[in-house]
Amino acid sequence: MITPLTCPICGGKLHIVIETGLAVCDACQRTFDADPADVKKYGDLLRDAERLMRQNIVAGYEDAIRLFASIPFVSGAKEKQADCEKRLKELQDRIERHRAFLHREDEKNTKLGIILLILTIMFAVAAISGIVYLIILWSKGALSRTAIIVIVSVIVIAAALALFSRLRGGN
Ligand SMILES: [Zn+2]
Repeated sequence: MITPLTCPICGGKLHIVIETGLAVCDACQRTFDADPADVKKYGDLLRDAERLMRQNIVAGYEDAIRLFASIPFVSGAKEKQADCEKRLKELQDRIERHRAFLHREDEKNTKLGIILLILTIMFAVAAISGIVYLIILWSKGALSRTAIIVIVSVIVIAAALALFSRLRGGN
């Protein structure tokens, strides 16, 4: 026997209450015994949908909504479907906000990268000009031995620091 979905007395819509195994008419409130096999089947569907809902993931909510929507005549299914839709919306909003946040971070990092590149180029130009200037001074014999040792030390340390920071940066 398959539980009818319309009231045999008044033709109103019936809803099935899993807990009591009854079919109740929305219009005249008469109650009928639902087929136990149907009650079990719809009860299992309801539990499956609730389990999917508890996963708290987009796919879980979507599957749960489909299951709840397939049994609108089961008591509580419509409310749970609406609850699912609300939670799904909240979850999707959270995911969207996170995505927007990551995008902003990405843009910030790109800007920072460009600024660092410009600073590096400016520093390199300044360093090369300085070295050329020093070579001119040196060729004219205007640099003392101490000055040359200091300049070479500074260049070696700067090169070592640049190399170190590049290695630490990983790229
Ligand atoms: Zn009825």
